[in-house]
Amino acid sequence: MEKTSTPTHCPYCALQCGMNITPLPQGGVEVTERADFPVNRGALCGKGRTAAEVLSPAVRLTTPLVREGGRLVPADWPEALDRIAGRLAATRERYGPDALGVFGGGGLTNEKAYALGKFARVVLGTSQIDYNGRFCMSSAAAAGTKAFGLDRGLPFPLEDIPRTGCVILVGSNLAETMPPSLRFFTELRENGGTLIVVDPRRTRTAEQADLHLAPRPGTDLALALGLLHLVVAEGRTDEAYIRERTTGWEEARAAAMAHWPEYVERITGVPVPRLRQAVRMFCEPEAAMVLTARGPEQQSKGTDTVGAWINLCLATGRAGRPLSGYGCLTGQGNGQGGREHGQKADQLPGYRKLDDPAARRHVAGVWGVDPDSLPGPGRSAYELLDALGTDVRALLLMGSNPVVSAPRAAHVEERLRSLDFLAVADVVLSETAELADVVLPVTQWAEETGTTTSLEGRVLLRRRAVAPPSGVHSDLYVLHELAGRLGVEKGFPTDPEEVFAELRRASAGGPADYSGITYRRLTEENGVFWPCPEEPPATAGPADRAVIAGVVETAGTAEAGGGDAPPVVLPGGGGVVPVGLSGGPGDADGCAPVHHPGTPRLFLDRFATPDGRARFVAVVHRATAEEPDAEYPLLLTTGRVVSQYQSGAQTRRVAELNAAAPGPFVELHPRLAARLGAADGDPLAVVSRRGRAVAPARITDTIRPDTVFMPFHWPGEGRANTLTNPALDPTSRMPEFKSCAVRVEVVGRS
Ligand code: SF4
Repeated sequence: MEKTSTPTHCPYCALQCGMNITPLPQGGVEVTERADFPVNRGALCGKGRTAAEVLSPAVRLTTPLVREGGRLVPADWPEALDRIAGRLAATRERYGPDALGVFGGGGLTNEKAYALGKFARVVLGTSQIDYNGRFCMSSAAAAGTKAFGLDRGLPFPLEDIPRTGCVILVGSNLAETMPPSLRFFTELRENGGTLIVVDPRRTRTAEQADLHLAPRPGTDLALALGLLHLVVAEGRTDEAYIRERTTGWEEARAAAMAHWPEYVERITGVPVPRLRQAVRMFCEPEAAMVLTARGPEQQSKGTDTVGAWINLCLATGRAGRPLSGYGCLTGQGNGQGGREHGQKADQLPGYRKLDDPAARRHVAGVWGVDPDSLPGPGRSAYELLDALGTDVRALLLMGSNPVVSAPRAAHVEERLRSLDFLAVADVVLSETAELADVVLPVTQWAEETGTTTSLEGRVLLRRRAVAPPSGVHSDLYVLHELAGRLGVEKGFPTDPEEVFAELRRASAGGPADYSGITYRRLTEENGVFWPCPEEPPATAGPADRAVIAGVVETAGTAEAGGGDAPPVVLPGGGGVVPVGLSGGPGDADGCAPVHHPGTPRLFLDRFATPDGRARFVAVVHRATAEEPDAEYPLLLTTGRVVSQYQSGAQTRRVAELNAAAPGPFVELHPRLAARLGAADGDPLAVVSRRGRAVAPARITDTIRPDTVFMPFHWPGEGRANTLTNPALDPTSRMPEFKSCAVRVEVVGRS
């Protein structure tokens, strides 16, 4: 029998690698590489390669569970759904709609994120919805929106990276988090470009760099300001660009000039000659990029920190130009789409603002409700979790595991336990699901069709390749059933394509406009970049689309760049693509109207601000929320390892991954280890103001002597997030995962 493969995308990170899934005659499925997807070109990391293991009924939930006598016991679906609907209705009746909370996830498909946001606001009438993506890239989103008027993780495809001259990679260990992406940086260096990595640790990514800057955790803002100071002092600013394409330079310049290189060296620990070297490497090539990830973003000043790196790009004319720009490497599988379609506390679908009257009218029109009936913005993720059991009495949670992933996790766990009612829909019995009153087993990745939006802003179609086990339903079914039980009979279809059709209408005209994207286009075009505001003619087949694409390529050469921006030549000789935010429909050479091809590259003709100019934001260095002192003399920073993903709820259930990374550890410098009298493997207690975590020592000179590192994928006594600080960024409401004060003790010797 011939095996039939289904092309789809990985369930894990935001790279969304292409893969094929093939059902096996003996049961189960095989995951194989898919060479036609340009991002991974056939490469998969261990997580993607072993992803099929989580489909096995041996590791996942296949029946609803309800709490009886303190224990979770199997139940049937009607009973479980009745119980959830009944408790949500009773809580709302007693305490009002804002006593109901909803917590989503950056791994949910666009359709699920959209339906969840609509469910919260239309069915429950609550403002209390947010999601775990708030813990991921919200500072970059806030900074990008401030500077450019629009947040799309990368405003250019990854394929541009090998063609630029220099990349500063700030706080990203992509050799471990998304290994196939490393090849873009290898090719960059092979092409003569340079890579600068900013990270307190000499990670596997930093090992690849031409220059590694290792600032003290929490000082990336000062580092960026110091670089900008040198750019100005050495006369490397692009004055014409600043004049024509930006506003706010004088204030930002003045703020940066207060950060003398020697002062920055004292704050960051990065020597002045290295700062000068970085400026030279960044400024000498014609094009350069800055890419940030969680390092600078997960700080109580994350928005300002990312803003400072954006200022560096703007001052040197390296944003909104071919092969140059600022981008954020979003982490979760649908971290980008998950923040665009309404599960964020302050947003409506299409990346519209919840407090914008026009946005409310538009979305309410699509939903068929009165705009005034829509609640306003609610609490951010940590604030919502912190309010559980007090202001928020009942919680519906989908696709998230805050018991492991939230900051100050012991407190969050205690808040979850204090709820009157907790319902969790998940694939596996996560540590959070274990606390629930009702657990619903839902479909995942290869068992359902739905869209995600990758870190590039490329909307992709994940396709159903296998039937789910009996007893398992999709999250869309859950919302449909709960809505019906709560008196809303219409508006929550279970067919993902139907949900996507409504999402397209809701997003039309918004910043993240998907209205021109269809499942058919996603299939035929291997993904489409948003914004894509217009649908191609229904009659156009693949051949017609090729013609359309050809016309757009021609038009792009002559027109779309605007001003004197050169055309963008695709890596690999793929021709010229339309450029600029406004590069959309039009006539070319007398042909029929050209329908929107999607927008791989943003901002080449104008930024998405009212005046089309990027905005400098004047920022100054400030300390982290918790600096070391006599009682807690060290800094803790947290991160990931290659064989685990996020809270580990899925990957800890995969034998190969678990064998490779079976548990947490504490990375520390040999000098610190000597001071403590610790040997490799000794159990270390890391203690912060929020609690204590114990894990074996891993001694390495790849970390600063004043800093210890723990990966955060595990629950229990080695849970790193027991220690982390929920101090919030005032703009993005991002907690300060990346830096807190700790002391370290060898267990049994304190
Ligand atoms: Fe999956 Fe990310 Fe690994 Fe690619 S890099 S296979 S998307 S986890």
